[in-house]
Amino acid sequence: MTQWDDTGFETRAIHAGQEPDPLTGAVVPPVYQVSTYAQDGVGGLRGGYEYSRSGNPTRTALEECLAALEAPGIDGARGLAFASGLAAEDTLLRVVGAPGAHAVIGNDAYGGTYRLFARVAEPWGLAHTPVDLTDHDAVRAAIEPGRTRLIWAETPTNPLLTVVDIAALADIAHEAGAVLVVDNTFASPYLQQPLSLGADVVVHSTTKYLGGHSDVVGGALVARDGELGERLAYHANAMGSVPGPWDSWLVLRGIKTLGVRMDRHCANARAVVDLLSNHARVTQVLYPGIAGHRGYEVAARQMRDFGGMVSFRVAGGADEAVAVCGRTRVFTLGESLGGVESLIEHPGRMTHASAAGSPLEVPDDLVRLSVGIESVEDLLADLDKALA
Ligand SMILES: *Cc1c(COP(=O)(O)O)cnc(C)c1O
Repeated sequence: MTQWDDTGFETRAIHAGQEPDPLTGAVVPPVYQVSTYAQDGVGGLRGGYEYSRSGNPTRTALEECLAALEAPGIDGARGLAFASGLAAEDTLLRVVGAPGAHAVIGNDAYGGTYRLFARVAEPWGLAHTPVDLTDHDAVRAAIEPGRTRLIWAETPTNPLLTVVDIAALADIAHEAGAVLVVDNTFASPYLQQPLSLGADVVVHSTTKYLGGHSDVVGGALVARDGELGERLAYHANAMGSVPGPWDSWLVLRGIKTLGVRMDRHCANARAVVDLLSNHARVTQVLYPGIAGHRGYEVAARQMRDFGGMVSFRVAGGADEAVAVCGRTRVFTLGESLGGVESLIEHPGRMTHASAAGSPLEVPDDLVRLSVGIESVEDLLADLDKALA
């Protein structure tokens, strides 16, 4: 809870955790580029800070803002910032997982998340079962009573834009005594707030929409329960998975415009979907906002709007999909997503290459777009030309 919980999303994005600096009145939290803090006598901390791995005022501002965005009104909820999305995920797995324990994860999870589960957590002793999280019977069947500690969901997913029902999965997890983790990177807290739907922990790659300008790598966790938040904070300090003050400041700066950026990302994505849906060279468009999309009803219920990520399949197979990625001008060929600039990529050979041969392999004629906030007519003309 913060004193901004009674205000709207955009007000919290701009003010929560960001009171004017008490010393100078600076309206934006300064970049506290510092590693250590003078003490007034041994143990006499002036502002509660002693060493910047344990705590830094710029990072604190970001963490309070993250909690205010994902968990308004949830008493005791805790936001934590990390050096990357994967650093956040790793810290979380160490705390809610354990050697001998088990996790259920979506069968089209982000490639890096899958790699973390398969190549790092598994050798440590945390087993996992990938399942289709839209199939609730399959989820129940994958749960190992007494051993399954967590269900890990992403919605919408990367890159197939599958939508899972957060409230239903939370019930299934809680019946089994497990926690529900939701990677909210694709939606951002502006479009979807999983904790309000019953999830226990939200994960972000702040590299994406929260940062929003493709100029920083960062991650975040927001835990509903204060005691879990405290254990996560302990591990973040013990493992050193924390971000520096400058990166924290960049994410905080990005967050201020999250609402207006997301509105434009969504509007531009809708226009792109219209163009692709009527294009002869496109065999399928994947977007949760299409009425025929498998997850449309759930998305309409749990999201404010449908987001800026669009995937589509190209007639002619992998070579043609790769060729389209090489023919755009405004859409930059590159990995990552969620920035103001539009990006195009071929998941099979780029972001999801590490999933080849695994249950998480993606179709090779798939192209993924991160629709930016440029002039929409330029985006449409660019795609039309690349597909010609
Ligand atoms: C990028 C991404 C991650 C990993 O975050 P990094 O900041 O790259 O470590 C995790 N989940 C999703 C959905 C992502 O897009």
